[in-house]
Parts: sequence; structure tokens; C-alpha cells
Amino acid sequence: MVLNVAIIGSGFAGLGAAIRLHEARVSDVVIFERASDLGGTWRDNAYPGCRCDVASNLYSFSFAPNPRWSNTFSYQPEIWEYLQDVATRYDLRASIKFNHDVTDISFDANVNLWTVSTSQGRYVARSVILATGGLAEPRLPEIMGVDTFAGPIMHTARWDSSIDLAGTRVAVIGTGASAVQTIPQIAPIVAHLDVFQRTPSWVLPHQGHPVLERTKRLFASFPFAQKLNRVYGYWKRELLLFGFVKDPSRMTRAETIARDHLERQVPDPNLREQLTPSYRLGCKRVLLSNDYYPALVRDNVSLVTDHITRIEPRGVRTTDGVLHECDVIIAATGFFVTDNPMGEKVHGTGGETMAEAWRGDLENYKGTMFPGFPNLFMLSGPNTSLGHSSIIFMLESQLNYVLDALKYALSNNTRIEPTREAAHRWTASLQEKLPGTVWGTGCSSWYLNERGRNTTIWPDFTFKFRAQTRRFELRDHVNVR
Ligand code: NAP
Repeated sequence: MVLNVAIIGSGFAGLGAAIRLHEARVSDVVIFERASDLGGTWRDNAYPGCRCDVASNLYSFSFAPNPRWSNTFSYQPEIWEYLQDVATRYDLRASIKFNHDVTDISFDANVNLWTVSTSQGRYVARSVILATGGLAEPRLPEIMGVDTFAGPIMHTARWDSSIDLAGTRVAVIGTGASAVQTIPQIAPIVAHLDVFQRTPSWVLPHQGHPVLERTKRLFASFPFAQKLNRVYGYWKRELLLFGFVKDPSRMTRAETIARDHLERQVPDPNLREQLTPSYRLGCKRVLLSNDYYPALVRDNVSLVTDHITRIEPRGVRTTDGVLHECDVIIAATGFFVTDNPMGEKVHGTGGETMAEAWRGDLENYKGTMFPGFPNLFMLSGPNTSLGHSSIIFMLESQLNYVLDALKYALSNNTRIEPTREAAHRWTASLQEKLPGTVWGTGCSSWYLNERGRNTTIWPDFTFKFRAQTRRFELRDHVNVR
């Protein structure tokens, strides 16, 4: 059987795509999921303390509000449960092929079809939606000797709850979003914790709090009230863009708040200095936490700022020659984002992989389509991530475009791909804008690719992206019957 749409991944993006296709009455849609359960990054990031730093009323589908969020900023178990609930509500489970690890996706230009090879067989599809996300493949630190460590090394996105950390000596490598959430959870139970910091992060106070029972009842009885709350949260976040994009010097106000937060929570001036970033707030992901700094001032926690030279069987060696002995290493070292391994598996019309085309600076159209990859759509594609608001808003915008384009391609039995000119126009306009934003103020971050180009962030108001993805524009596409 030829599928109309093969969706790869069952996280927010894959489920959202399947729901929209179902509503548009597109049949023969299958979601391929490599794991035995759905949920994507919110299934995989089960480390203690994992939480979303965007308010739940905004970090959820606009068409599937959840009046039962227990916290204004939910923790991972509840977000994962939300996705399970959405899958049940929209009857999606039967469309998901679990334990189907996609190994290759190749286009056959003779028949205008994609072949999706999986660990459990091959499938043929008219179109493909890559919904594998930017935070899917954990990046272990590239440190000499990492294979020689005698104990377990676990990445935060591959948390092994069978490893009992109580009373052990633990090393956490990294001080990004995942690290600052898990460190306060494990610090009270371990014998000793060394936190290896390469670059300090800006940390702002967290505003999250439990949702009152009466608020939940209000949201359940009057969905409009929850919608209003969502709209209010949306616009509050859009205003932040004036600092992120229009005038990064406005970030000094937030930097003052972060410095005050640090001063209130860390009495030792030396430690404060080590924790003070030297780059503009916003250049790297801004972190929210009320318990990270208090965890670092505990007697059983040390912040190590000497760089790591190697990992040895008994621990982590730093440039000052000290061996920091430990029983377990936790790598909170992020993901392959700009070099997502999925790119190696997708072959376009010329046989070239998407990764090879990217290395040659493959340009994209609306963060969703690529010349040479017909009827293939990437959700959370290039320059669709955000530093200030909810990625779900961006996803739903992309889905408007994808649905419109797919309906055209399927009903006309045609293959479509953006013209090189249209992709160039789109990509160049963003690349022109990005250096003047806060992300271009000079720091290393996972937003930048190996050539230092920001291929991750959308540098404008999200409502502009919504307007530009509202509909499929045939004139920007090559159309082959
Ligand atoms: P990340 O932000 O990429 O942080 C990785 C950390 O590891 C950085 O501190 C980095 O230092 C350090 N590191 C990497 N390689 C190292 C090495 N060889 N030696 C020493 N340190 C090393 O990764 P993440 O914390 O997993 O977060 C990734 C993204 O996931 C976030 O930015 C966010 O978008 C998302 N996320 C969100 C939440 C949330 O909603 N609250 C929670 C978790 C994750 P440098 O800074 O020097 O590179």
C-alpha cells in the first residue's frame, strides 16, 4: 500500500501533524516511532526536575487545552501525560507504528514516491513529514578518555533510574537548562557532587507556581477564561522580543534582575564571580530557577571551573591537574541540533543526503521545505526555534502551511518543492537579520552551526511567522506531475 503521508516521530510535532491531517480527512497516514511509547523529547527527558520553561497554557496545543495543569509551568511527567491524553482523545494510537526505527528515507524520482526504510520493513509514501525535533539526539561530551570511566555515564536525556545515586559521588558535566533543573534534585541525596561549568548561564527567578483548584475548575467550566490566560501569556512573551531582536542593549534590565537573584542566593563573592556570565543575557538560552544557586552553596557540592582535560577510570581530570573522583558521571551536555543525525538518513532527488546538502548550505523555505526534497516537510526545521516563546505556536503555524501544501500535492497527484530562488530569498532575509539580534552578540551556543551561522532561531515576532505560513504559495514552488 502507498501511504499518503509518513510522519516520523510521535512527539508534539508528529501528533500535531496527525491530528491536523485527520481533521482534513487525509487518509493513509502512519506515524513511525522508534521507541515503544509516544512523546518524543517529553518521553525521553525523564531526569529528576525536568520541567518546561514556557507556561503550560501556552506550551500546549491551541486546539487541546488542558484545564488540569497542576503547575503554571509543568514538570515532564505531566507534559508527557498530556501528550498521551491527546493521542487518546484524537484516537491516534492505531496510526502509530511503535519500535519502527527509521534508517533511511529516499526519494525515487521515477515514481515520485518516498521509500521509508525502518527496522521492521519498508514503506512507500507520497509525502513525508519529519517530526523528529531538534532535541532528539543526545550529545555526549567529546572528552578524551570518556570510554575509560569505570562507572556509569548517563546523559540527562537517557536517564537510568535504576542507578541509585544516594550516597554516591557524582560529576555533572554542563550547566545548561537540563543541568540547572536536575542538580537541585540530586544534590540532597548524593555524598558529593562536582558541577563542571565551562560557561556560566544567566539564571532568572522562576515564576512557576501550583495552580489553585478553583482556577482549574474555572478553566474546565469556562474554556474562554483559559484562552484569555493563553492570549495574555502569548503577548507578554512577544514583548520580550524588543530586547532579543530589536535592541539587545535592553537586556541590561534583565541582567540586573539576574545579578540580584545571584547575589541574594549566593553569599560567597568568589562563587558569585564564577557564576557571572560575561556575555549578553539571551545570547545563550536564558534559564529560570529558584533552587539552582542554593544547591551550589551546599557543603556537599563544588563548582569546578577548571576545564576538563580527560576522563579517567576513577573520575574527571581538570587542567589544574586535579582528579575529581566520582562513581557516576551525568552528562547534561545537550543535543545534536544543527547537525541532527536524521539529516544523514534522508536522500533527495539527486541522491545527496540532507546532511550533505546542509554542509553545502542547503537553503530552506519557511523553515519547512528544501529544494531537492519534494513533498518532504520538516517540523521544527531551520530557524523555527525560539528564545522567547512557545515552540508549539511555531509548530501550529508550520502545520497550516504543510496542510495546505499537502492538500495541493495529493489532490493534484503532483510533487512540489520550493524553487531555489524562493528558498534563497527566505534564508537570506533571516540571515541578514540575525547578526543584529542578541544571538549575534558573541557567545558560543547550540543555536549556531559549525560555520557560526544561526540556523536555529526565528528572529522576529511569532505572529509574523504565522502570517507567512498561513497558506501554500504555488508561485514559490516547482511543480512536477
Ligand atoms: P545545552 O543548553 O546545550 O547545555 C549543555 C551544557 O553542557 C553547557 O553548559 C555546555 O557548556 C556544556 N558542555 C557541553 N560539552 C561540554 C564539554 N565537553 N565540557 C564541559 N561542558 C560541556 O543542553 P541542555 O541543558 O540539555 O539544554 C538544551 C536545550 O533543551 C535548552 O536550551 C532548551 O531549549 C531545552 N531544554 C529546555 C528545558 C526547559 O524547558 N526548561 C529543559 C531542558 C532542556 P557551554 O555553554 O560552554 O557550551
